[in-house]
Amino acid sequence: MDAILVINAGSSSLKFQVFGIADAKLTRQVRGQIGGIGTRPRLQAKRADGAVLVDQSYAAEAVGDLPAAIAAAREWLLTLDGFELRAIGHRVVHGGPDYAQPVLIDTTVLDRLASYQDLAPLHQPNNLAPIRLAMEINPDVPQVACFDTAFHRGHPEHTDCYALPRAFYDQGVRRYGFHGLSYEYVAERLNEIAPEAARGKVVVAHLGSGASMCALRGGRSVESTMGFTALDGLPMGTRPGQLDPGVVLYLISEKGMSANAVSDLLYHEAGLKGLSGISNDMRELLASDEPRASFAIAHFVHRCSLNAGMLAAALGGIDAFVFTAGVGENSAPIRARIVERLTWLGAELDPAANEAGAALISTATSRVALHVVPTDEELMIARHTLALIRSRAA
Ligand code: ADP
Repeated sequence: MDAILVINAGSSSLKFQVFGIADAKLTRQVRGQIGGIGTRPRLQAKRADGAVLVDQSYAAEAVGDLPAAIAAAREWLLTLDGFELRAIGHRVVHGGPDYAQPVLIDTTVLDRLASYQDLAPLHQPNNLAPIRLAMEINPDVPQVACFDTAFHRGHPEHTDCYALPRAFYDQGVRRYGFHGLSYEYVAERLNEIAPEAARGKVVVAHLGSGASMCALRGGRSVESTMGFTALDGLPMGTRPGQLDPGVVLYLISEKGMSANAVSDLLYHEAGLKGLSGISNDMRELLASDEPRASFAIAHFVHRCSLNAGMLAAALGGIDAFVFTAGVGENSAPIRARIVERLTWLGAELDPAANEAGAALISTATSRVALHVVPTDEELMIARHTLALIRSRAA
């Protein structure tokens, strides 16, 4: 069977999925990852029906870094029978100011993507590592880069900029926005399940470990809560969300923290984890009796509702509000608490539908349709990859 391999490479995990192609349609075949790179490496993969294909642990030094994880994953993937690799699709966090679409990768494109490394130093090098390796090993297999930023590139300049001297914008200091593959998938899915709403004004809340919201008009992104980096906007598992830049200046100039220490604080020690002092994991916080856990949740809900209001203003009202990602898809109590703060927009929750995990959780009289749409960034990458290799073949 012809197949597309989708790769999402991070610093502590390498995720991969295999999609089969039959009659130009994609079906997920395998889902896997190597987690705990450098600490407790573990390769796990399942077939689409849930059957376990591999579950193997390694010594920390055996899979000590991302290149070693790529090698281990490759070794295992080569044992998979029955797939003819036609292309590899990669999640690449930053498409810089240039890429508003996924792109077939060649050495020129790769050099340009590498030049965005300083825009996303924690993510971009990891995203590019498997591309380089596959180029060396399998130069004939086409590779496609799909960006988290691309979906937002159509924002008008006056919404895309910071109020800084113009030269900074020209140097790339812009509000890029992220989670674009998730929003693009949700927009397509909404068009299937609620086409009328999809044509209108929609706010999508991607609430996972990373969290952001996006305002869609007619299925296109017009605003997002994230900006130059994936630190801005909503509080997240370990990131603070919106923060007065004066805090950063204070920490550096008055508290003597190094830029690296501040970066570590903002990426790894803040958000729900920092506020609660308990966990970055919403499930654990919801299960905890500790007042600090409910305090962190209250802050999260507060910031979500403020940002929803901001995006409603960007759209001039909303027709639909969509929950997606780990928290959005699975947590009825968090959804209920956010919707409670959207009553002024005309949102009315159907508590039974919400508790039951229904796809539509608003009442029949709600002025805002409330949807829960499971996201699928990997399928979005596979779709883009297939479309690009087909257009190349045409
Ligand atoms: P990422 O892909 O960014 O790692 P996910 O979209 O998987 O993140 O979301 C992870 C978050 O979703 C975690 O905070 C986790 O606790 C939360 N989550 C998953 N299931 C539930 C649930 N049933 N109730 C509350 N939170 C949940």
